[in-house]
Amino acid sequence: MRTYTTYSTKETSQSESVPGKDMVENSAGGYAFQIDDWKRLDRFLILGNEGGTYYASARKLTRENADCVLRCLQKDGKRTVGVITEISTAGRAPKNDPALFALAMCAGLGNKETKRAAFEALPEVARIGTHLFHFVTYVEQFRGWGRGLSTAIKNWYQDKPIDKLAYQAIKYQSRDGWSHRDLLRLSHPKAEGERNSLYGWIVKGEVVPGLHELILAFEEAKKADSPKKVIPLIEKYNLPRECIPTELLNEPSVWEALLINMPMTAMIRNLATMTRIGLIAPMSEANAKVISALGDEERLKKSRIHPIAVLSALATYSSGHGARGQHSWEPVSQIIDALDAAFYKTFQNVKPTGKRWLLALDVSSSMTWGEIAGVPGLNPRVASGAMALVTASVESQYHTFGFCNQFVPLSISPRQRLDDVLKTIGGLRFGGTDCSLPMLYALQNSIPVDVFVVYTDSETWAGHIHPFQALQQYRQKTGIPAKMIVVGMTATEFSIADSDDGGMLDVVGFDTATPQVMSEFVV
Ligand code: CA
Repeated sequence: MRTYTTYSTKETSQSESVPGKDMVENSAGGYAFQIDDWKRLDRFLILGNEGGTYYASARKLTRENADCVLRCLQKDGKRTVGVITEISTAGRAPKNDPALFALAMCAGLGNKETKRAAFEALPEVARIGTHLFHFVTYVEQFRGWGRGLSTAIKNWYQDKPIDKLAYQAIKYQSRDGWSHRDLLRLSHPKAEGERNSLYGWIVKGEVVPGLHELILAFEEAKKADSPKKVIPLIEKYNLPRECIPTELLNEPSVWEALLINMPMTAMIRNLATMTRIGLIAPMSEANAKVISALGDEERLKKSRIHPIAVLSALATYSSGHGARGQHSWEPVSQIIDALDAAFYKTFQNVKPTGKRWLLALDVSSSMTWGEIAGVPGLNPRVASGAMALVTASVESQYHTFGFCNQFVPLSISPRQRLDDVLKTIGGLRFGGTDCSLPMLYALQNSIPVDVFVVYTDSETWAGHIHPFQALQQYRQKTGIPAKMIVVGMTATEFSIADSDDGGMLDVVGFDTATPQVMSEFVV
């Protein structure tokens, strides 16, 4: 009899695929579902694949993700460009590079219509000079400088209002071996009057009468040898930090002037510098100004600051020293608290559902590999802790666990500071991966759960039952129509969610829209 009890569609070892289900072998040797190309495109655009994963090098993943982009753009180029543009402009991704890379593929490898759509989207996706330089680097991997490309670059310059273009020219002067001068020489835009003199300045450095006032102010700032000379220029023309001579960037008074109109991104990036030189200090005016800016939800949303940028700033700032260790500062605790609070405000608005949530973090060894958005130390394992707290911060009924080959309650809460939470999770022991444990544990311990959220890379292999089968058992034995949300933390093709089951959902970790999508799915 034994011979025939090993084959079941209700309980199948994770090292085998479930009979009748379309499953693929994951990188860990277990079986999982494969997400479709459009979902993988989302994962790639949002998570990128810098640092690779435990199982695959960044190079291999880039190849796989690029193949996926290629299939998407061949299937429906306009839709692909649409997805790229939407994710990029909404600020849903921590980094714009995957979007610029995918757009460059569309511009190089698409049909005529796709190319046109890609060029039309260029100013929206490449919003600043640095983006444009990255795009040009990527696009050369796929095509030459035909008319379509040079016209698109020309339009990027011609269509920008003159004030904005002048600002781009002084703030983002060059990057990756590309400069505005190179691009103007390749695309030959023609203009008259003020715009013509601006082009002349960019290409040949000519200072002529009638040149834009911002450029004249920048030329004057270059010659300034004291704060007294440069501060009036900053105040009158809003000169950004990039225009200030390096030797003046150790002066608190210069930073104080810069801070008045400093864009949010620059402010968050320069907190350490402003603290080191003594501008940000307990009780200082600048301190109050920064704290109020970080608490301004509308400003945070408008500037499209990504939660990863805030988390990264928090981790660096609270450590008191730079990554390469040449600078150190005394972190101001109110600034750390303000960053901590700002993190939650950078996600799209989430409404509490009143449901019972079990938040389960995959803390297995594979999750400790790689860097989300290239942030040092921010691996998928600790990052999932930060994601879980976003849901925990709005819900009243939740329980947080970590799992690998065991299931352990985690004492983390949104009232704790994020850097402490990350440390707690980083310090847990790890082992093999069994993504069915959340459901099995809840069943064994009679815990009523409406929604299981599993933060994972879906490289599950260690269990005797597949996660979706464990969920079905849970539903059947408890009578609760429980749902499961899989938060994908790496840009691979794997998922433990069965897309045939309407009660299971795949989302992408660190998409700013994810917590909202989750709560809408659950009610
Ligand atoms: Ca694992």
